[in-house]
Amino acid sequence: MNASEGSRRETLYRSPRPPVPVVRPAKPARKRDGCLGPPERYPKDPEKYADPANWKYPVHTPFHARAARRYFNDPRNRAKYTEAEQAYIEKKINEALTKFGVPIAMGPSAVEPEAATIQADIPLNKDIDKLTLDEVLLAFLGENRLASARAIPADEVHVDKETTSLISGTVKAYSVVLDLAQKRVEHDCVDFRTNRAKGKLLCKHLGAFLLRVDPRTATPLLRRLLRERDRWTFA
Ligand SMILES: [Zn+2]
Repeated sequence: MNASEGSRRETLYRSPRPPVPVVRPAKPARKRDGCLGPPERYPKDPEKYADPANWKYPVHTPFHARAARRYFNDPRNRAKYTEAEQAYIEKKINEALTKFGVPIAMGPSAVEPEAATIQADIPLNKDIDKLTLDEVLLAFLGENRLASARAIPADEVHVDKETTSLISGTVKAYSVVLDLAQKRVEHDCVDFRTNRAKGKLLCKHLGAFLLRVDPRTATPLLRRLLRERDRWTFA
């Protein structure tokens, strides 16, 4: 065995060393711009926030955990914390994302691909009931998918049933069932099944479908979906 083989072998067999954290995470201190309590309709348990002292970065749902990741990737937001505090927030966001089965980015500078799909920000203090149909669709679809939804020709979208408890139909060859009684969103395309449903988000077909439903039905339904997302099944 020559020297280069020997060193390669050494590399291969070296036991993986756990990554050494640069700084020890420390719970963030109270900040001047922090909140004094939980925002309305948000969890009252401080542990559901990546920054519990300031009631910031709620991570109680996949949607919020991703939003937290996205906000916290912004250097302007990170700059409000010490390195140790950043490490703490980072850790809590990653733990939440892992728990919800959302792929986590390797570092703050890495772009987490799924987070990028949520392009609309939903300010914590903005009342969901004031969101327009477009705004609420944007929150569920992101700009690119909303544009794709709008591009699906109207004759490929069929609303077959529209009652107060069930809205169903088809988009292209895919089926759509919005079961308001059972709180279920059922749809069978690959994007939804493998990706969007996990984050309780919508695909372009569901977007096209909801654009076709009477806006007087679609708007309150989407607002309700946004508010109750965690109690609904997306499958
Ligand atoms: Zn779809």
